[in-house]
Amino acid sequence: MPRALITHAHGDHLVPGCEKYLLASIGAGVARERLGDSASGVEGIAYGTTRDINGVRCSFHPAGHILGSSQIRLEHRGEVWVVSGDYKVDPDPTCAPWEPIRCHTFITESTFGLPIYRWPSQQSVLDEINDWWRANADAGVTSLLYGYALGKAQRLIAGLDPSIGPILTHGAVERMTQCYREAGVALPPTTYATGATKEASWSRAIVVAPPSADSSTWTRRFGDSRSAFASGWMRVRGARRRRNVDRGFALSDHVDWPQLHSAIAATGAERIGVTHGFTGPVIRWLQERGLDAYAIPTRFAGEQDDEAAA
Ligand SMILES: [Zn+2]
Repeated sequence: MPRALITHAHGDHLVPGCEKYLLASIGAGVARERLGDSASGVEGIAYGTTRDINGVRCSFHPAGHILGSSQIRLEHRGEVWVVSGDYKVDPDPTCAPWEPIRCHTFITESTFGLPIYRWPSQQSVLDEINDWWRANADAGVTSLLYGYALGKAQRLIAGLDPSIGPILTHGAVERMTQCYREAGVALPPTTYATGATKEASWSRAIVVAPPSADSSTWTRRFGDSRSAFASGWMRVRGARRRRNVDRGFALSDHVDWPQLHSAIAATGAERIGVTHGFTGPVIRWLQERGLDAYAIPTRFAGEQDDEAAA
């Protein structure tokens, strides 16, 4: 593809092989890090700046999902479409907040588009994480906290209380965290954990690592430990057991069911394309309220537990 407009740098929204990528400039560093060999094609555009592409007026607006995440607004002959990408409305100090944008057609994600998904106060979840870490530290065991390397990990780090102990990172998390710092996001100090050995005393430490580190030998170096996974999926009974961790924290970078519907209403859109997740229940709910809602197929449908579905 010669040119792609990118909402954010998660793997199901940013794929290698395009000649050019246009995305919000604050997220360009993260995108380059993820693209590797294709990074030279990345071009950043400031939020709110318009660009004419083949007669279509394009602009990028914050989506509140991860650093640089955007909704893309497209205007042609007075008709306005907005493509949400992934988005959330809960506060997140590591990225710009979601903005409602008036439009005729809104293309929304539906990752957590079921009525069972209702987030607890996200600050209360961060408080629970710090309480868990503090209790582990006082008991002399290392805390292993799993979250997706891009976005979730930095939001977790921003919410951790460094007075409890040192914050260590897995390499995948440290690389992305460095990109966040270079983009100007303030985060507490972290230490890349590769140098840690079994002999070292990390009992007061928390280790932030991607979920894939859970099943590897990488975590053994920390000795006695407790593990937890931070994800919206932890809202559902049984998810923690399937992940084989001691605790699950329902911290999500997506809208829950009520937030999804209030966000859609805030756009004023009459036509809503639903993609990426539980499209059926969301479409039925919208149609019952007289809106023109339809499904947009994605090649990533069904991948509810992948990196993007945090
Ligand atoms: Zn995403």
